[in-house]
Amino acid sequence: MPKQGMAADRRSRDEPMNSEVDVVVVGAGFAGLYTLHRLRRAGFSAVVLERADDVGGTWYWNRYPGARCDIESLDYSYSFDPELEKEWRWSERYATQPEILRYLGHVADRYDLRRDIRFETRIESATWDGAARRWRIRTDRGDEIRCRFYVMATGCLSVPKTPDVPGYGRFEGDVYFTGRWPHDGVDFTGKRVAVIGTGSSGIQSIPLIAEQAVQLTVFQRTPNFTRPAHNGPVTSTKKVAYERDRAAYREAARWSLAGVPSERSLVRALSVAPEERRAAYEAGYASGDLLAFSAAFADVGSNPEANETLCEFLREKIRSIVRDPETADALTPKNHYYGTKRPCLDTNYYETFNRPNVRLVDVRRDPIKTITEHGIDTASRSYGFDALVFATGFDALTGPIVAVDIRGREGRSLAEKWMDGPKTYLGLMTTGFPNFFMITGPGSPSVLSNMVVSIEQHVDWIAACLERMRAERLDVVEPTSVAEAGWVQHVNDCADITLFPTADSWYMGANVPGKPRVFLPYVGGVDRYRKTCDDVVRRAYLGLAFDGPGGARCADGVVNRLQLDVWTVLDLVTEFGLPRIETLSVPDARATFAAMAIGRPPGPEVGDVADGTLPGAAGPIAYRRYRPASPGPHPIVVYFHGGGWVLGDLESDDPFCRDLCCRSDAIVVSVEYRLAPEARFPAAVDDGFAAVRWIAANADRLGGVPGKLALCGWSAGGNIAAVICQMARAAGGPAIVGQVLVTPATDPDFTRASYVENGEGYILTTPMMKWFWDHYADPADRTQPKAAPLRARDLAGLPPALVVTCEFDPLRDEGAAYAEALAAAGVDTRHLPCRGQIHTSVPAVDVILSARGARAEIAAALRRFLGTTLGHAEQRRARPAVAAVPVGTG
Ligand code: NAP
Repeated sequence: MPKQGMAADRRSRDEPMNSEVDVVVVGAGFAGLYTLHRLRRAGFSAVVLERADDVGGTWYWNRYPGARCDIESLDYSYSFDPELEKEWRWSERYATQPEILRYLGHVADRYDLRRDIRFETRIESATWDGAARRWRIRTDRGDEIRCRFYVMATGCLSVPKTPDVPGYGRFEGDVYFTGRWPHDGVDFTGKRVAVIGTGSSGIQSIPLIAEQAVQLTVFQRTPNFTRPAHNGPVTSTKKVAYERDRAAYREAARWSLAGVPSERSLVRALSVAPEERRAAYEAGYASGDLLAFSAAFADVGSNPEANETLCEFLREKIRSIVRDPETADALTPKNHYYGTKRPCLDTNYYETFNRPNVRLVDVRRDPIKTITEHGIDTASRSYGFDALVFATGFDALTGPIVAVDIRGREGRSLAEKWMDGPKTYLGLMTTGFPNFFMITGPGSPSVLSNMVVSIEQHVDWIAACLERMRAERLDVVEPTSVAEAGWVQHVNDCADITLFPTADSWYMGANVPGKPRVFLPYVGGVDRYRKTCDDVVRRAYLGLAFDGPGGARCADGVVNRLQLDVWTVLDLVTEFGLPRIETLSVPDARATFAAMAIGRPPGPEVGDVADGTLPGAAGPIAYRRYRPASPGPHPIVVYFHGGGWVLGDLESDDPFCRDLCCRSDAIVVSVEYRLAPEARFPAAVDDGFAAVRWIAANADRLGGVPGKLALCGWSAGGNIAAVICQMARAAGGPAIVGQVLVTPATDPDFTRASYVENGEGYILTTPMMKWFWDHYADPADRTQPKAAPLRARDLAGLPPALVVTCEFDPLRDEGAAYAEALAAAGVDTRHLPCRGQIHTSVPAVDVILSARGARAEIAAALRRFLGTTLGHAEQRRARPAVAAVPVGTG
């Protein structure tokens, strides 16, 4: 490895460095090298501290046989300089570790970076000196460097975890770690070798070790999903796209889900025929592209049933390759969903287990009792070895950062602050640690993305921030606690709609004993993350507090308050450019409303569905009855659909009715009341009341339990349900045991704050709401309690209530006001405000997954009102639907 500048470095490296620079950067891998280059270009002085004796970071340490990148090298390379792109040629689609290391050496030389890198230097502590507004950095060489800014570019997977295997340390033969491989290689010829671990490192190295060793024994705790990389020349389609317009190609990567140009799929795996699904999986399998499966369908990362179809496809492949059925079975992942543990690409992995010199020990069946001086004892037998290879992984994301004693304001330690999990703003900074930055830190897309794209974005963002501070004579920057708490919440909310939290993975910190179980990266995607960082800048560096001779300034706030899936839906609505309902004729509005439901997930299966008619206030009206699969009779929930009294029918809220039926284990009767403007106020509520009376009187006929009847409605349907409760109270019946009002219209006062704050951009708009009221009721009628239940003089004696409101809904405040008024009147009332949700979130079953919690609360309230216990169906309603989730490199 040529090392220009090393001589100079070696000359000076024994002399402690006692100096001041603008920025200290830790780590000389992809992140540190670009940071140094970018900061220099911006005119900052910087020094990089690097423990190794050369550049390369992860590619310096991970020299095990077979180590190579599994994001294509065209993508996994810098984009900051078109000249660099032009002059470097990758020899293979997936470059090997030596080639990537050569590339980084070339970059270091080309930009003369080594002269500012202090090699073989380990940072020991970093302490913020508040008075001097400087970081003091101490190293194991006795250096004390003062700097204004301190950047950890230490990578996400750079601290190997200490193997938690009994007897570790006893073995007297050769011991190797994939993450700390000897530089001159290892010859296993004639050796009996054990490999412990079947993650990416194990899966890449096992086939090559097997070619040398006289015998290889693989100790596997969890089988992983892997498939052939089909390595070879750079694929022609990619190359053509890249060569045609490099700048456009790179820009597409920056605005993609995972940092590699690709389209986000909108297709749900379960919405297509099995043959079509299989064809998509076969194409993904043949492509050798790590991201192919997340690009194929929108829901494999979030819907267990969809994911299971992919798992089963991959399991079949394993069975078709591995000849011994018992070994094939042991190699087959069964305890986690595809992608929830980092999937791998391999070359001949499963084929290796057909070799006579390779055997597999499933340590879940036959646990390792202890490592001995000469091998490994499992519960059932002793194995003798000449060499042990630990491919047991890393203390990911947080490990490299807390490995340094970092102390911020008032001497507070970062390790202590993060004891229960990392808390960051954008994965870039953390409160209490001024002028401290992390590249691809926890809470950023990092390991779920093409790292190089994420690194460049972080470095550019930090450099721009420093440039701005210099221009405005600001010398301290730190995120506010409001901004940080908001970001941590958003990161967790995003993870919660995926399957990731279900697995014991290093993404969850689950591989390191004692590490808090927290999802570490940001799953919202590279594109959304970049937009968020740009938004922060655009909104005057929202959430960052600056101070310095130029003054103190802070635009405090939370950058992303919408739930990720709501954000996705709003983006789609914008993309499709739907017409504004209030500009349409009523028939066109109805057609548009109905069209919006086409292709949506159908909702869960229920026991049976039957349509019928019942006597309304002015003639027969239609109803639809959903019966649970469990044996009846069941209590009854009468449901009123939304649509502003103008739109909607039995179809429009069908998935929500199914969901209600399953979750609450009750019969749901959805009522098709007459619509305005053909039948204006009070037709809808009169029909609704007539329907409730008829259903109560005919509970037996419907398979229901007489006397156990609750009401539920969404939006205008919530208005109808609330009004009917008041009408029933006045009429002395029928008995209603509870009411669930989901984002109800309760009062047409358009001056409320929520009409102003959320009046545009969240599907239901203020003009649309005015249009609905205009069609429904004359101004004089609107103040009557039969139209505006909030206006009722007395709410005492009404049935117990659950009122659901959504943060970004024009109707939020009138819903909250009704809940408050009910409670004030002594009604047993619960108000459920839904964070980050919009008016249409709750009924959007299997689309807005983040509203699952609200749907579960609704069902729980209904069960409480109806006095029923939890149905089995409720437990089955797991976590379906539409949240594209990246699966990237680490
Ligand atoms: P890893 O994915 O964490 O795998 C570690 C393996 O060791 C797992 O199979 C684990 O089993 C096993 N293990 C750990 N402790 C054990 C114990 N006490 N007893 C038995 N088995 C034990 O680590 P890795 O393979 O080094 O990969 C880490 C990450 O680095 C990858 O996920 C990837 O992001 C990155 N990487 C990337 C590439 C690339 O091609 N770009 C290559 C290598 C690594 P459990 O699953 O049961 O914990």
